[in-house]
Amino acid sequence: MIDLHCHSSFSDGEHSPALLSDMALNNQVKWLALTDHDTVEGLALLQQASCHKDLNIVKGIELSVRWKKHDIHIIGLNIDPMDSHLKEIIATQNERRIARAAQIADCLVNCGIKDALKKALELAGHQRIGRPHFGQLLINEGKAADMKAAFKRYLGRGKAAYVETDWILLDEAVLGIIKAKGQAVIAHPLKYSLTRTKLHELIVAFKSAGGVAMEVVSGETTVTDMNELAGLCGRFELLASTGSDYHGQNSRIALGKQRPLPVNCRPIWDTWDNQSRPAS
Ligand code: AMP
Ligand code: MN
Ligand code: MN
Ligand code: MN
Repeated sequence: MIDLHCHSSFSDGEHSPALLSDMALNNQVKWLALTDHDTVEGLALLQQASCHKDLNIVKGIELSVRWKKHDIHIIGLNIDPMDSHLKEIIATQNERRIARAAQIADCLVNCGIKDALKKALELAGHQRIGRPHFGQLLINEGKAADMKAAFKRYLGRGKAAYVETDWILLDEAVLGIIKAKGQAVIAHPLKYSLTRTKLHELIVAFKSAGGVAMEVVSGETTVTDMNELAGLCGRFELLASTGSDYHGQNSRIALGKQRPLPVNCRPIWDTWDNQSRPAS
């Protein structure tokens, strides 16, 4: 099994990198990329925990990106986490994440939640603060029944506590990944509510920036969606990637348990060194 997209407690995932490594082993995952939101902090621990196991670690990241007023997620695979330009990007993203948290908290104070920033920061602990922490706060305060409802009513695009964030631009993210010797991948392309025309525009912009792949399977992607995405990979000459986007026990798809890639697309690992790639 191959899983090229998951999260640890260094971003909004529930589990430590060490626990993810054990889970990967239990689930027969042989190739695992940790792709935390805007951070590479968990990678060293994951490598440490996996070094005596039959598990290959792919160093990854999931960058939040602004493209034409849309928030898009771009994954970097096989990145050098020590790259200085990538470190600068991460620092900038983190500043924006923190500034956004204060703005989201202001909106939630207006919705009747006292001390929203303090409480959300407590929930985040050492994690990168993100909307799921505010989702948990809304649940704790009895304002939302579950995470889905918190996004639908408060945190999703255009909702009461949605804040437009000045994330890095698509080109900057792709270039940053390339400079760090990685490959850029569009994450979960059907999750942005883009029209098909806009999605095609995104793919063209991504490719001209130097992006090479797109997730054809992500979490619970349906067969219909997977086949459409495989078709788009063929049409736009993109490699295909796959991942569970596992965040923890509330994720519907367990680590490495996403459906297999369709046979008509070329997996991204086809381009990896012979010694360091899965058999396909
Ligand atoms: P952020 O990076 O802080 O903007 O938060 C985005 C994260 O929130 C995503 O990576 C998901 O983990 C989570 N998320 C986004 N939309 C939803 C949703 N509708 N329901 C539950 N979780 C969501
Ligand atoms: Mn997430
Ligand atoms: Mn994502
Ligand atoms: Mn993700």
